[in-house]
Amino acid sequence: MKSRAALLKEFNKPMPIEDVEIREPKGEEVVIKIEGAGICRTDLRIWKGLEARPTFKLPIILGHENAGKVVNVGDNVKGISVGDRVVVYATWGDLTCRYCREGKYSLCKNQVIPGQTINGGFSEYMWVQSYRWLVKINNMSPEEAAPLADAGTTSMGAIRQALPFINKFVNPVVIVNGIGGLAVYTIQILRALVNNLTIVAISRSEKHRELALKLGADYAVNMKEAEGILSKLGEASAVIDLVGTEESVYNLSKFLAQDGALILVGLEGKKICLDTFDTVVWNRKLLGSNYGTLNDLEDVVKLAEEKRIRSFIVKRNLEEINEAFKDLDEGKIEGREVIIP
Ligand SMILES: [Zn+2]
Repeated sequence: MKSRAALLKEFNKPMPIEDVEIREPKGEEVVIKIEGAGICRTDLRIWKGLEARPTFKLPIILGHENAGKVVNVGDNVKGISVGDRVVVYATWGDLTCRYCREGKYSLCKNQVIPGQTINGGFSEYMWVQSYRWLVKINNMSPEEAAPLADAGTTSMGAIRQALPFINKFVNPVVIVNGIGGLAVYTIQILRALVNNLTIVAISRSEKHRELALKLGADYAVNMKEAEGILSKLGEASAVIDLVGTEESVYNLSKFLAQDGALILVGLEGKKICLDTFDTVVWNRKLLGSNYGTLNDLEDVVKLAEEKRIRSFIVKRNLEEINEAFKDLDEGKIEGREVIIP
């Protein structure tokens, strides 16, 4: 079938809207009509040519945060029918390596990512490799569900890594650095899952600090002000860094309690640096956190359907995609832009 789609043909150039062919689903495969496709900073980095995976080839349709309606299924699809509304898990493992066997698909060396290694969701229709990568949504709109596929799931994955450290204290302090599309979920999920938690949000932008307070952060400060707040509150048992520059990691490491963990999610920098003495003597941990599991996606869908977390979205149509990328790049967006083709 034909589908209108935004094609990335050349880095840093506007993406034209053209007709592409979507192949018929066979076996476990599914085709969905996209009703929401979130724009992530990763899309922006790929568009700029800064984050090509080894199997990456131009032209490609970007978009890995996808939700919509099932329109066609192969003859071996189970538990999913035409007409179902679904959100698409974004890392399709090979199901055979030891990480896939544990459900850790984002660690699979043979992973396929829609919008990164094959065509994604900035398109009217999208082909999905297997019904296994779909989570049904019943009580929320596809445009609100779309960002859960990455921003929500990645937040949940990071929080699940942080929880053992947070739970060592009855009144824990957690820092969330970088208030953008991910933090919207990170702050809300922390609030929903952990009692008696003090959340300190750090951002350079005053607008984004205001948003963090609205979402449930107790304090929203810049990096300099954080020092004063933390010396009053006590050190953080976990720090979730959604920025990931050399500077952010080094500064944040100073706020960590003994035995505390810095969960590194952001990919903006190229390398990181820590004080050897403090890291060793105070047993500080640095944990990389890439994406989350299918269960993490299902759980954030559950939290959203129970209205315990919500999406902050800016709707754009497919024709506005180049403008939407520009707005994200210029830091004009609060929450997540979602393409509705
Ligand atoms: Zn695998």
